Amino acid sequence: MTQAQYSTRTIKANGLAANGGIVKLAAGGYVAVDTVAGSGLGHVVTIDSCDCADRVYRNVICKHMRAARLAEGVACCSTCGSRTRYEVHHVGGRGDTGFLVCRADRSHKASRVD
Ligand SMILES: [Zn+2]
Ligand SMILES: [Zn+2]
Repeated sequence: MTQAQYSTRTIKANGLAANGGIVKLAAGGYVAVDTVAGSGLGHVVTIDSCDCADRVYRNVICKHMRAARLAEGVACCSTCGSRTRYEVHHVGGRGDTGFLVCRADRSHKASRVD
């Protein structure tokens, strides 16, 4: 297990300030700290990977990855956390309108961009 070495105690000891529970690593990527559960464990996370159970075993886009994507300024779907892309569609009465479209599937819409 690599998680233990990223405990909040370690982060505090290193003088790192957790901003919104996520800490950027100099080497790249982030450590996201679970504070609510009180486990004190951190997860090594990038915008595309995480070592938490949600990601590794359930293969979902976990809250840590969402936080990392937010921190990196990567647009992500508000519903499922997948990355989005920008598309322009013609909307009757409005003309060409920009949409953020979820890349995961077409089962839900991401928000419109004005
Ligand atoms: Zn995670
Ligand atoms: Zn989505």
